[in-house]
Amino acid sequence: MRANCTGREQPMPQPIRILLIEDTLEDANLVRHYLTETEEAFTLDHAETLATGLEKLRTSSVDVVLLDLDLPDSEGLGTIMAIHAESPQLPLVVLTSIASRDLAASVIQEGAQDCLPKTNIDSDSLNRSVRYAIERTHRQRVESTLENSEARYRGLVDSLPVCVLQKDLDGRFIFANQAYSEFTGHDVNNILGKTDFDLSPNDVAQKFRDDDQKVAKSGKLFRTVEVNTTDGKTAWVEVIKSPIRDAHDEIVGTQAIFWDVTERQMAVEALTRAKEAAEDASRAKSEFLANMSHEIRTPLNAVIGMAELLLDTKLTSTQRDYLKMILESGESLLSVINDILDFSKIEAGKLDLISKSFDLRETVGDMMKPLGVRAGTNHLELTCHFDSAVPAVVEGDAHRLRQIVVNLVGNAIKFTEVGEIDFDVSVDSITTENEAILHFKVRDTGIGIPADKRQTIFEAFEQADSGSTRQYGGTGLGLAICARLVDLMDGHIWVESTLGQGSTFHFTGRFPIKESNLAARPEGTNRVQGTRVLIVDDNATNRIILDEIVRSWGMRPLLAADADEGLMLLQEAHSAGDPFTLLLTDFEMPGKNGLELIQAIRDMPDLKNMLITVLSSSERPTTRSQCDALDVSGFLMKPVKQSELFDAIVVALGVELPESETHDSHLKDHEKLRPLKILLAEDNLANQRLAIALLEKWGHSVTLAVNGKLAVETWRNDTFDLVIMDIQMPEMDGLEATRRIRNLERIRGGHIPIVAMTAHALAGDREKCLEAGMDGYTSKPLRIHELYDTIAGFFGDQPTSVSTESSPSIIATDGTIDWSHALHSCDGDRTLLLDLLQIFLDETPLLLKRLDETIAANDGDATYRTAHTITGSLRILGPTPANEVVRKLEQAATSGSMQEAPALLAELRQRLDILTKKAAETVAKKHF
Ligand code: ADP
Repeated sequence: MRANCTGREQPMPQPIRILLIEDTLEDANLVRHYLTETEEAFTLDHAETLATGLEKLRTSSVDVVLLDLDLPDSEGLGTIMAIHAESPQLPLVVLTSIASRDLAASVIQEGAQDCLPKTNIDSDSLNRSVRYAIERTHRQRVESTLENSEARYRGLVDSLPVCVLQKDLDGRFIFANQAYSEFTGHDVNNILGKTDFDLSPNDVAQKFRDDDQKVAKSGKLFRTVEVNTTDGKTAWVEVIKSPIRDAHDEIVGTQAIFWDVTERQMAVEALTRAKEAAEDASRAKSEFLANMSHEIRTPLNAVIGMAELLLDTKLTSTQRDYLKMILESGESLLSVINDILDFSKIEAGKLDLISKSFDLRETVGDMMKPLGVRAGTNHLELTCHFDSAVPAVVEGDAHRLRQIVVNLVGNAIKFTEVGEIDFDVSVDSITTENEAILHFKVRDTGIGIPADKRQTIFEAFEQADSGSTRQYGGTGLGLAICARLVDLMDGHIWVESTLGQGSTFHFTGRFPIKESNLAARPEGTNRVQGTRVLIVDDNATNRIILDEIVRSWGMRPLLAADADEGLMLLQEAHSAGDPFTLLLTDFEMPGKNGLELIQAIRDMPDLKNMLITVLSSSERPTTRSQCDALDVSGFLMKPVKQSELFDAIVVALGVELPESETHDSHLKDHEKLRPLKILLAEDNLANQRLAIALLEKWGHSVTLAVNGKLAVETWRNDTFDLVIMDIQMPEMDGLEATRRIRNLERIRGGHIPIVAMTAHALAGDREKCLEAGMDGYTSKPLRIHELYDTIAGFFGDQPTSVSTESSPSIIATDGTIDWSHALHSCDGDRTLLLDLLQIFLDETPLLLKRLDETIAANDGDATYRTAHTITGSLRILGPTPANEVVRKLEQAATSGSMQEAPALLAELRQRLDILTKKAAETVAKKHF
């Protein structure tokens, strides 16, 4: 190494190492002389014989050999061969004594790089020849390396089982491997320089060209599966195309690797076809099932309907028993068919959810009622709890939600021997689209489900206890239907269970929120705030739920687990000077039951005037009348809804609730409902007038039937959109008329909405109405908003629930008529109110006269009906002093205490006198 002026070290050029094999010393010296004359750096080694030359080649590094052909131990061209045998490709310059072209040609052919006649040698020619020999050898070496590498590359690419090809940027083939030639049937040599347009149909070639250009332009890899028809037969190939880049990273062409995937593609297509065929078959099967179920249902409905009609005729008791068996079997067969129909509809993709706004607590509360009765019959407690975060009104398919709830709670009752069933609703989350993900839970204390069945029971026809020892009935379709419905609601369903201890079924669903009203507080809670209430229930869950609800209204509850504890707390509170105002008590309790508790309270002088509301899961009429006899203010079926509990408390406490302000807005929506054809079944003249006036005012046409029998007949002979049905009617009551219409519909088809009109005071009527086949409920006296909401629930966009308000059932004390209330009842229509007052004036003496007769005849039923009619006409006037008396008369008539009736009638007559005088004055003055 030596330093240059920059101070950087430059590598010194290596001297060229020359081996001279020459036996003539003179010649050798001459060569040495010429070499030293050149400017190049050389090292020179000398051998006099071939043997010593070969030895030197073996032991030292040599760049070039200068070789005399005639040596003592070797002569002629063989010398070159000997050198190359030792060091192949070593640059070799031959020095000859004679200048012969032929010899020079032979020497070069033998592998030497040059041939110099010694006679012509000089410094330059020697120098040039040595350099040339080295360069040429070097080039030869590079070329041979390249050739080797290319041969290796080609060998590799040719042995690949995939087709490889390369094209330049103009789309001309520059390379193709053996596999390509075999796949396409083209000789590789024949395609080089050609384009796809020379080999494939135009459209295919154009596609290849487009793909190539895409790759060349983007520089990106491209992968696809495509049809290849290069050799005339169609094949599927998977292709990977990529750009070819040169040493400067410039894209100079494209290359493709592709391989035959025809078999795979065929298999995929066959699989898809098989899958589609299977789906078609499954759909056809489901459609067949749906048609079959429908076909079976139609005659079955006739069997059930006819059996019911036959039951109404005169029969021997044996005939009646047989008929009841036909009816029960028909109904259970119908429920199986309904399940199959639903399931096959879902499977065939024909079931869509119908979304409508509904009040969650009301709607679910209604679903719970018949289930509560069923649970009660099996001596099970059914509780229902809503977390306070659950929104008030949501949008969803209430009918399908009901189907899931009824199924899960129904199963819980079916598979539980003792204990309780808790239904709970909470919110999992609220989405950014203001949808609530609701979480429903049904917990039971029943037989539980084995771990290996917890998944399969959600499949069709799967039951945990399948086999010949089956203990419980059922089709195994219920949970499968629930699972599919939950799926449609965007939710999940699952079960947790401990064998022998019980199960908890969970399901979730997505419900857009319409009204959050999170606390779900009814209006007017200030009226009950601060009231002390004692809750007696043997079921801890129920106590907790009731406690939470009444607390949310600001009441002051205390809890007792049985009647004795309850009595003790009542006495303690009384002695402490902070007595309870209200008792909420369960009816069926171990030890002292509800009735005994109430009896004990009524027998205690300090507590006997206690206000009492009973919660019961028994629908036996005796239970009800026993409670009435003990002057119970309210009687609610369990599980109790918040709204009805609130109503019952308000009624018990005798506090008035204002008409909800918010409802006024609904009145503006009247015109939104299309004109409906309504059948009104109502016997009371005043109610008829009011209902007709309101309905006609809202643009509906009304046909009147004055009793249930006529209602059924009118319905049969005409078509209506809606039936509004009074419950108490002569000849045939509303419940019976509804049952008949529903029976006939089973034969004729269709389903007309039937709305019950019943006195709000009779809580529990609502359940009877729904059981009879009615779809809705509105309380009497008719309240504009409630009636409107109920109708809108069927034909408009408003929530289907009935308003949570109660009927004002307060007793005014000053004996006057509340004209503003009365006017409000008539939607502000003064003429209508004057008409109604006139009817009241006409009817009242007749009704009083009828009461005289029925009481004299000791006819409790007729007395009740007449008193009830008076209640109806009175309520149009708003709260009046006569209401309380007529209610007592109704109670006396139903509880069989007819001996009290004459006194009550006398009192009623007095109060009605005052009212009729006022009404007469008003009618005369035509001024309120
Ligand atoms: P089924 O008509 O047989 O009741 P389902 O699909 O509703 O059909 O239920 C399938 C099976 O799941 C039932 O037969 C029962 O073995 C099991 N199962 C469902 N609910 C419960 C439960 N609450 N407790 C125990 N087992 C249950």
